[in-house]
Amino acid sequence: MNTSNPNLHILLFPFLAHGHIIPTIDMAKLFATRGVKSTIVTTPLNASLISKAIEKSKRHHHKVIQIQTIEFPCEEAGLPKGCENMDSVPSQDLFLAFFHATSLLRKPFEELLLEQHPHCVIADAFYSWATDSASKFGIPRIVFHGTCFFSLCASDCMGLYEPHKNVSSDSDSFLVPRLPGEIKMTRKDVPAFITNKENSTEFVKLLEDAKEAQARSYGVVVNSFYELENVYADFYKNEFGRKAWPIGPVSLCNKDTGEKANRAKETTIDEFECLKWLDTKKPNSVVYVSFGSLISMPDSQLREIALSLETSGQHFIWLVKKNEKDGAEWLPEGFEKIMEGKGLIIRGWAPQILILEHQAVGAFVTHCGWNSTLEAVAAGVPMITWPIVAEQFFNEKLVTEVLEIGVPVEAVKGVRLEGECVGCDALEKALKRVMIGEEAEEMRNKVKVLAQLAKQAVEENGSSYLAFNALIQELVSLSLSR
Ligand code: UDP
Repeated sequence: MNTSNPNLHILLFPFLAHGHIIPTIDMAKLFATRGVKSTIVTTPLNASLISKAIEKSKRHHHKVIQIQTIEFPCEEAGLPKGCENMDSVPSQDLFLAFFHATSLLRKPFEELLLEQHPHCVIADAFYSWATDSASKFGIPRIVFHGTCFFSLCASDCMGLYEPHKNVSSDSDSFLVPRLPGEIKMTRKDVPAFITNKENSTEFVKLLEDAKEAQARSYGVVVNSFYELENVYADFYKNEFGRKAWPIGPVSLCNKDTGEKANRAKETTIDEFECLKWLDTKKPNSVVYVSFGSLISMPDSQLREIALSLETSGQHFIWLVKKNEKDGAEWLPEGFEKIMEGKGLIIRGWAPQILILEHQAVGAFVTHCGWNSTLEAVAAGVPMITWPIVAEQFFNEKLVTEVLEIGVPVEAVKGVRLEGECVGCDALEKALKRVMIGEEAEEMRNKVKVLAQLAKQAVEENGSSYLAFNALIQELVSLSLSR
């Protein structure tokens, strides 16, 4: 469907991390399918990755998707040269400097708004200042969080009612007030940015500003689909009085192998080699292990994962964010030799959606980043959930307790704080639960149904398709009334 106003121009401004850039490219492709022009605003190094990803699409999206660069003030913020993406920040101590650098983008961004005067800005939640920047020029600002409705609702309810303050220990459970579904959590499940509010760090302040700016924004686009979490989509709109459009899974807009393999970063394995390896395996017999684009596990944890993969007897593809060829420090001796044919370690970047969509893949060990979680749902793959930071703990609840399409990995001594080590036995136990037996079968059946619903949602007249049309129509009406 082409809109009645092909002159509509949307400015997309993702946060500078792959988990935000990847779904933004997909959103730009979605606008392109409706004949709507969009411009992705980013920094030079990210721009070259984005333009490669767009060129890989055989559907000539590049005609209506433009990329506009603004310089990233590395030096001014005390970051090394070329550090333009969260995945190149050399140490955690520099994360705040990176966020600070993004706040310096405000001025060049406003210059760009003045020059381009788009009809709408879809800016990442982390750019709280974008609401005021857009309103200076009379442009509506829509927020993109990159997470699901469940997580947005849980986070807002926790922030408003602070139930974690009424329990005396980290392992005492409490109900998340007002959140449908009687969701129980413990303090150890709640992201530190909520429990640690009192130590008002700069990061907590940034999130508070983002919340406040969101309340004044035009609405929210969510990479999710109504059938997946309708209760929470309705709750979000009704309880918090916000406009929200569930338009996902946006990853499903990628149709051919090249497009699916190249999503803002070159893979470190040839996609066809990877698929050939999977072709030799039986359906549902391979576990895919990946913790997203940012998390690097300590060597001690990598060794535990290796041991559990070996003892569980499952075949696997394991993405390790290391470039070193040998792995001498983080793999048990002779591991790769012993596992030859059974396991494939990818060092660097994997063609994730191609792997998840392969019929040989039977489970996904994930950190519950929302993109990964939704990609697993869309591919019909049950999960072993192992959240590490932030809203990943909420996403885990959605997967394991609301949708019942995954099991959590238990940490040593039953306590799992952010970043705590998970023992080999715990992962092995979870792997077996998801791969073998009746419970595994039930989870697989449930997630396959959801995968079907995901595909229907983005097809013509599906819920996400219609929500996306409604968004465009609303922007057209707004632009005519301005
Ligand atoms: N991804 C990928 N290959 C990799 C690692 C990650 O394609 O080797 C993609 C993955 O498919 C997802 C995104 O990177 O689209 C990661 O986003 P997510 O929200 O899951 O986690 P984050 O990296 O933001 O923690």
